[in-house]
Amino acid sequence: MPVSTEITTLSIEDDLRICPSCGYEYGFHTSFINMNAGKDNPVRCTREVFRVILICPECGARYDVGWRVTFAEPVSKVVKTTDLRQVCTDTLFKGGQ
Ligand SMILES: [Zn+2]
Repeated sequence: MPVSTEITTLSIEDDLRICPSCGYEYGFHTSFINMNAGKDNPVRCTREVFRVILICPECGARYDVGWRVTFAEPVSKVVKTTDLRQVCTDTLFKGGQ
């Protein structure tokens, strides 16, 4: 059976152990999806946010229970900022006479 690419949104009530799709009852695998992946977003978040996806080991159904996680930055990134400093106009009047 091919792995499902569809992600079903689930809300956890008392217990989330049994796959609603196939009835497998020994819990789920987890995976992470980068929420910024595929988006052409000019404003980069300083931290990437990942959706935690539960995957049924039996039937491959994927479930989103609303978990969102971030990870510590493994390396500090150099953030390029636009230099908005204005040229000090005082220098233009120096020695005007
Ligand atoms: Zn299942």
